[in-house]
Amino acid sequence: MAQKTALIVFAHQSPASFNAAVLDVSVQELTQQGYRVIVSDLYATNFRANATRDDIIGDLRNPDLFQYGEETMWAWKERRLSSDIMEEQRKVEEAELVIFQFPLYWFSVPAVMKGWMDRVLTQGFAFSLEKMYNNGIFKDKKAMLSFTTGATQTMFQADGINGDINVTLWPLQNGTLHFCGFQVLAPQIFWSPAHCPAAGRAAMLEAWRARLKGLQEEKPLTFAPCELFDLSFAGGFLLRPEVKKEKELQPFGITTGHHLGKPLPPDNQTRASQDQEPGCSSNL
Ligand code: FAD
Repeated sequence: MAQKTALIVFAHQSPASFNAAVLDVSVQELTQQGYRVIVSDLYATNFRANATRDDIIGDLRNPDLFQYGEETMWAWKERRLSSDIMEEQRKVEEAELVIFQFPLYWFSVPAVMKGWMDRVLTQGFAFSLEKMYNNGIFKDKKAMLSFTTGATQTMFQADGINGDINVTLWPLQNGTLHFCGFQVLAPQIFWSPAHCPAAGRAAMLEAWRARLKGLQEEKPLTFAPCELFDLSFAGGFLLRPEVKKEKELQPFGITTGHHLGKPLPPDNQTRASQDQEPGCSSNL
């Protein structure tokens, strides 16, 4: 059987950090499972975060109005993207599994990782209007967020001061990863390692190692498939009327984002569908 490849996109400045310790466990465990593991260490390689004209080699199609998305789409087709982007795209192409390892910054990824997403996931390579979400270009690949927080778990509950972590995760998991087609595995969240005793941190690392052993069998999170929507500008990309009518009879919204003004389906962005309560969002 061909060797599987895992790509870990890593964003932490310090090799002594808890994030680096998590990365070590991931590399050890996935290697032991027979994966070829590639690490993109974004700070160590000084990966550039800002999406600029320098990402395109040669002339622009429209020098009068620079449109990054358009220009990078053409540059990707013509193999005229800068070498650091092409290198990362090659790694994504080779990987069956992509793990993003980072500390939560402002409810999101650190700027350097956002820059990786902005610059590497170009139109044509990662998505098109015809190929998105469950029909997306990376639909045969899996991706997941693995991150540490400063906040405790209760702070990120629906009644906690930061609000529901499912809402926090929706833009990254739906708007970036699933938009490009990835099957998104439940996030791995290391709650507040800096405020945790050493034994608690060791236990978190062991729990991660144990999860990695079964990762290949995990079911992905549930999202709303494209087939539920009228995929035309005339139809506004809205839920098809018959689907809307049926979903409005359900006790919960479809997903965290497609809530239809109803209670959010519990744990939609944090637990895989087989773990969720029946009738919430897994029966699409
Ligand atoms: P570290 O401080 O590196 O590590 C924590 C502890 O683990 C340390 O004592 C370290 O020595 C120890 N450790 C290291 N290796 C091991 C090992 N092998 N075994 C056991 N222990 C080990 N937090 C939020 O919750 N929400 C936010 O929106 C948010 N925004 C932020 C924005 C910015 C700009 C910044 C700077 C921080 C923000 N934070 C936020 C906090 C941030 O998410 C945490 O500081 C970070 O996640 C902690 O992870 P770390 O790897 O840096 O921990």
